[in-house]
Amino acid sequence: MVNDVSQDALRRLAANRDGAVLSLFLDLDPSKFPTAPARQSAVDALLNEARRTVEASPLDHDARVRMRDALTEIKGRLEPLAIPVEGARGLAIFAPGPGAPVELLRLPAPIPNRVVLDASAHVEPLVRLADRGRWCVALVDRSRASFHIGNEDGMPLSGTLDDEVKGQHKKGGWSVGRYQRSIENEVVAHLDHVAEALLVALREGRYDRVILAGQQPIRSDLEAKLDNSVKERLAGWIDVDQSAADAEAVRAAAEPLIVKARSDHEREVLERLAQGVGTPGGHGVGGLRTTLGALSERRVETLVVDPQLASPGSRCPACGLLGLNLAECPADGAEMKQLPNVIEAAVALAYEQAAEVVLPAPASELTAVEGIGAVTRF
Ligand SMILES: [Zn+2]
Repeated sequence: MVNDVSQDALRRLAANRDGAVLSLFLDLDPSKFPTAPARQSAVDALLNEARRTVEASPLDHDARVRMRDALTEIKGRLEPLAIPVEGARGLAIFAPGPGAPVELLRLPAPIPNRVVLDASAHVEPLVRLADRGRWCVALVDRSRASFHIGNEDGMPLSGTLDDEVKGQHKKGGWSVGRYQRSIENEVVAHLDHVAEALLVALREGRYDRVILAGQQPIRSDLEAKLDNSVKERLAGWIDVDQSAADAEAVRAAAEPLIVKARSDHEREVLERLAQGVGTPGGHGVGGLRTTLGALSERRVETLVVDPQLASPGSRCPACGLLGLNLAECPADGAEMKQLPNVIEAAVALAYEQAAEVVLPAPASELTAVEGIGAVTRF
């Protein structure tokens, strides 16, 4: 199953608040849309609804032209031969403000068809899909590398890099020294390429953490070549034979490191939360009302939420403030919009302030704050 929803993607989308953003959600559940024609009529219906929404909204001229152009592009990307259905159960498509490209995210779970035109990207339906993080596993030998991107649910091959070293090293003869040196130079150049590819993929936001697989002799050479930003994301090395490894073998080999890294990180965040809440003047808040307050004040660094938590609440359409049962916004007097589940809005607001969101396994620190809390910046 593919999942393009990462915390980075949601932060990027949620940060885009200048003007109008069109958000489309397309269900690809194979039990509901078993054939390409059935899927295509759902696509047509969704695009028609999007067109009606754009034409009926009080947009200014530039925004309306931009939305029409975006819909033409989206239509092209959802044509029968172009639509990326392989391994996806749903699609989320965002046509954001001026200068930002149309973004299409493949989802690992079905999602109801829906069109939303709002001041910001409607990321709420996606917030629970982003808790896994994106991992890159790079399998590296002396001349080739393959890159898998995914998580413990699946680790599909994303790309390969081939710098085949010509010839094999031979024994005997006067030229061995020079010949071997030239092979070593080619290996060095190959490891440079691998390090560069990892850096580019990180800058493109294609992964959050990296695991390397390779034989002992190249490990220290490759690590020495990694950019510091990549090295900081390195969770460790695993043993996988590149020539024999399929996606499932890579996933299975990486799983223990991924699970351990997540639980270590959760533990660390829960301890910081408990310490912040337990210290007078500390950098932590707990409980739904107080956490919504900290989010509304844009001072959350890490939001910690029980994945099962749900509660009705309200949001100010003017300033984005969240509350439990407010009729009117205490900041600007606007009429609050009532939400069936304020938790999703809270997570979206966390992304909007570039916070991290952690949805941990059951823990006493989380129970102590009734399922929601935050480590704050100040
Ligand atoms: Zn307000």
